[in-house]
Amino acid sequence: MRRERSEALYEQALDVIVGGVNSPSRSFRAVGGGAPVFMKRAQGAYFWDEDGNRYIDYLGAFGPIILGHAHPAVTEAIVKTAAEGTLYGTPTEKEIRFCRMLREAIPSCELLRLVNSGTEAVMSAIRLARAYTGRDKIIKFAGCYHGHSDLVLVAAGSGPSTLGMPDSAGIPQSIAREVITVPFNRLDTLEQALDRWGDQTAAVLVEPLVGNFGIVPPAPGFLEGVNRLAHAAGALVIYDEVITAFRFHYGGVQTLYGVEPDLTALGKIIGGGLPIGAYGGRREIMELVAPVGPMYQAGTMAGNPLSVAAGIACLETLARPGTYERLDQAGERLAGAIAELASRYGIPVQINRKGGAFTVYFTDRPVTDYDGAKAADGEAFARFFHLMLESGVYLPASKYEAWFLTIAHSDEDIDRTIEAVERAFREMKR
Ligand code: PLP
Repeated sequence: MRRERSEALYEQALDVIVGGVNSPSRSFRAVGGGAPVFMKRAQGAYFWDEDGNRYIDYLGAFGPIILGHAHPAVTEAIVKTAAEGTLYGTPTEKEIRFCRMLREAIPSCELLRLVNSGTEAVMSAIRLARAYTGRDKIIKFAGCYHGHSDLVLVAAGSGPSTLGMPDSAGIPQSIAREVITVPFNRLDTLEQALDRWGDQTAAVLVEPLVGNFGIVPPAPGFLEGVNRLAHAAGALVIYDEVITAFRFHYGGVQTLYGVEPDLTALGKIIGGGLPIGAYGGRREIMELVAPVGPMYQAGTMAGNPLSVAAGIACLETLARPGTYERLDQAGERLAGAIAELASRYGIPVQINRKGGAFTVYFTDRPVTDYDGAKAADGEAFARFFHLMLESGVYLPASKYEAWFLTIAHSDEDIDRTIEAVERAFREMKR
């Protein structure tokens, strides 16, 4: 497969865009480096790159694209809305309709506020939890990504329950000291952290089903335990459902599992592929937000007509009967075939799947937390990634990301993907 134009464009991009990409995970650094593929257009389950190569897409733009690319309902909503003006700086009726749709699907969000990204949604929910409790510290789980605001760019130091070390330059130690990181799926370490810092903790922040070190579901009782321990300490529980909301069913993981947080952050799918975020929660907490209360949060672009119209169209399409059954069946077939081929070719893999999302870890040990995901073989993944790319299958370029199916993936696309996996495994065993 020739990718000369992508290579040339990468050289040009390096000259004007830092690292050649506008978000680090778009680079190929985690899979051995080199020019990332520059895409020219996308339709349904496919990408076409600048050299004219076609790929079956399992990146799904890191989550938002669940209907497939350029879904007619979303495109039509965007075009129609754009013709009526792109931004007013005033409230609109559409925002009410959209927020009602969100609340019907996720009832713990009694009141909502729209923002522009998942980062903003989590950042604002944290500020609100701090305003409500009058406390400063946050407990998060190692390996969970919550956007790039200062506070959450802190992951584990070594060992559980350590005070955080920043994962990024430019984050003051004073901020890092306000974050405590514990391992996912372990209530004992959370309890220890709360024993020590509970009276200073504003919130326990969690991806209720992890999507950021691959797909890692909560162990039975884990989410209930998080609620029990946090609330006993007087702390709030914030669910980051930026990846998970509307991914596995029409609602959040909280509605799927029947465990409600105090506050929820949303993003990705709810914007139908346009920039969006939202946070919501119990009325008495949300009423601390300006202009009702003293917690300030604002946004020029927030609730912009295009994102809201795309979001409504996306949710309406997802609400049609059979959507999630179809995603689940496709996920089961593809993940099942990969597992079968891996065992046939003697390649150790673990596949964690929920519905139409899964991660293939190159390891023989089950992955239930970040340490497990870190232990997966990154070189084997990089080899696999490039072999799949050569076969016209676009996977996320990191061993930590999930494959996302869309409703546009056909049985034939899945058959082709399975053939590509077999070719890749055969090559890896040579
Ligand atoms: N929270 C989670 C769980 C995410 O996966 C992400 C992005 O990947 C974010 C927050 C940040 O969202 P955004 O990239 O829209 O700022």
